[in-house]
Amino acid sequence: MEKHKMDFDVIVVGSGMSGGIAAKEFCEKSYKTLVLDRGEPIEHRQYKTEGMAPWQMPFRGEVLQEFKLQQHIQKNIYIYNDFTKHHLINDLENPYQQKQPFIWYRSATVGGKSLIWGRQSYRWCEQDFEANKRDGNGIDWPIRYADIAPWYDYIEPFVGISGSYENLPQLPDGKFLPHQPFNVVERAMKEKIEQVYPERKFIPARMANLTQANKVHTDLGRVQCQARSECPRGCSFGGYYSSNSGALPAAKRTGNFTLTANAQVQEVLYDDVTGKASGVRYVNNKTGQSHTVTAKVVFMCASTLGSIQILLNSKSAAFPAGIGNRHDILGRYVMDHCGGGGASAKMPGYLDDYYKGRRPGGVYIPRFRNLDNKASAATPAENSTKTHFIRGYGFQGGASRSGWQWAKNGQGIGADFKAQVSQPGNWYFSMWGFGEALPRYENQVTLHPTDKDQWGLPVLVTDVAYKENEKNMVDDMTTTAKEILKAAGLVDIKGFEGYAPPGGAIHEMGGCCMGDDVKSSYLNKWNQCHEVPNLFVTDGAAFSSTSCVNPSITFMAFTARAVDYADKQLRANTL
Ligand SMILES: Cc1cc2nc3c(=O)[nH]c(=O)nc-3n(C[C@H](O)[C@H](O)[C@H](O)COP(=O)(O)OP(=O)(O)OC[C@H]3O[C@@H](n4cnc5c(N)ncnc54)[C@H](O)[C@@H]3O)c2cc1C
Ligand code: SF4
Repeated sequence: MEKHKMDFDVIVVGSGMSGGIAAKEFCEKSYKTLVLDRGEPIEHRQYKTEGMAPWQMPFRGEVLQEFKLQQHIQKNIYIYNDFTKHHLINDLENPYQQKQPFIWYRSATVGGKSLIWGRQSYRWCEQDFEANKRDGNGIDWPIRYADIAPWYDYIEPFVGISGSYENLPQLPDGKFLPHQPFNVVERAMKEKIEQVYPERKFIPARMANLTQANKVHTDLGRVQCQARSECPRGCSFGGYYSSNSGALPAAKRTGNFTLTANAQVQEVLYDDVTGKASGVRYVNNKTGQSHTVTAKVVFMCASTLGSIQILLNSKSAAFPAGIGNRHDILGRYVMDHCGGGGASAKMPGYLDDYYKGRRPGGVYIPRFRNLDNKASAATPAENSTKTHFIRGYGFQGGASRSGWQWAKNGQGIGADFKAQVSQPGNWYFSMWGFGEALPRYENQVTLHPTDKDQWGLPVLVTDVAYKENEKNMVDDMTTTAKEILKAAGLVDIKGFEGYAPPGGAIHEMGGCCMGDDVKSSYLNKWNQCHEVPNLFVTDGAAFSSTSCVNPSITFMAFTARAVDYADKQLRANTL
């Protein structure tokens, strides 16, 4: 093995949503920071399918079977097509095993999933941080909303979140840019739904798209979103937030930033003498060469399961079951949002109205079930319906008119057909739920005892399943979505059927949970490993529960908070 020793102040593993923020924050505080990422290098503004029309693609955006076989997991992701497939990994080269169905979506590039995310960004609320304690599931969070609120205030203006002010306890407002507009059908639906169900608010989705570019954005070359809705291809305008357009350029301009791509980190190295992490070992996935790098602090941001995989593989005499894992807690309480429930329907009329541009957002119906742990009900009909689950869910959705694409599945020929295709179709509205799954000790990921990938990293084995609570919640999503659409005057209502397996919501969390007790949690309230003080985990692995809102802005807020703490400890010489 080639030994290539370098000294940095900080090593950040992963350059995605959380790693990007860790790098920016450390670099801006003058720490020499190395970011290691397994993915392919990709320069901001060098997005190879950006702006391309279907007719410029060999198969009009369809993906050849050959690639679908190589990406047999990734091909199921809703953004998967010929414009985006190179942003997702090759599943054959990156295998994992599922004891129970778990869909593991992973990015193939620097910037991680921040390049392809859906950009929905919501704060967690007080109730979210109290839920574990109240209902006795999982580990009580060592912090509360008040601890993280100032870090949302800090991170939101940098990222750029558009949203409306609603004053809802279950969905705290933030520091928003102007919200995206509703279209005519959504305006009508809002009025009707809120009339029938005063507790079900119908609000614009809160999106990490710049409805207005402020100096903090333009200084990085980011400008206002142009409403093309092609975000997962990458956006040279920087109209949506990604690590590539935001945090990484911010880190780079400090002069303290080093990025090594194609670097698959395999283990965090532990020094028995100091009782600290001394650095990491990685393999260059192009050359197969192994390298060791040292630093004062290691931040794990390789995505929830990616970080757990590396930590479990970081074995030493002191920690034979993975670094810091003295109490068999690493890899436990793995969660995702439960989903699969919802409905879609046709809105009659409004055929004289259209919309301009392709708004990269939609609408949101914040959680209205079990608020404050009571079955909250707005109408007598609801009062008679007890929810058969604890915790809650929110709906995402949107209205649009069908376009010429319907013709791909239809039949026709000649002038009449052409005339028909050139007209927009009816209005439709779809809504789907994201629910809070319960943290369960037995929902675990481990390493396979013998199987390794081609670079020598042991294969991850997932053993995560939903139970009755999640199933009842998903059933309620469908029943309720149908009810809401009916109340709003829509017709031809179709409920969604089936339950998305864990991983399907792409909001994996847990595995290195935060808590006060050294025996039952992996990290303390600063995202710091209880057993290894200079090792931090700040991606979703750190989360002790999931709330029901999309989590990435919260990953970023926790990361900035943890860097602030590490900085203070480094300055005080206590790390
Ligand atoms: C299609 C899609 C839509 C989504 N929509 C939303 C949304 O609307 N709102 C929301 O909040 N979230 C959304 N998400 C989820 C969001 O993208 C993730 O929560 C977020 O990116 C996770 O951040 P992260 O830093 O943990 O991981 P990532 O952003 O995935 O970054 C992890 C990085 O670590 C690298 N890595 C992994 N293993 C190793 C290793 N062994 N060595 C070195 N590097 C490694 C990867 O290459 C990657 O670059 C969506 C995701 C997808 C795919
Ligand atoms: S919708 Fe906005 S952010 Fe998305 S690709 Fe277009 S300009 Fe960029």
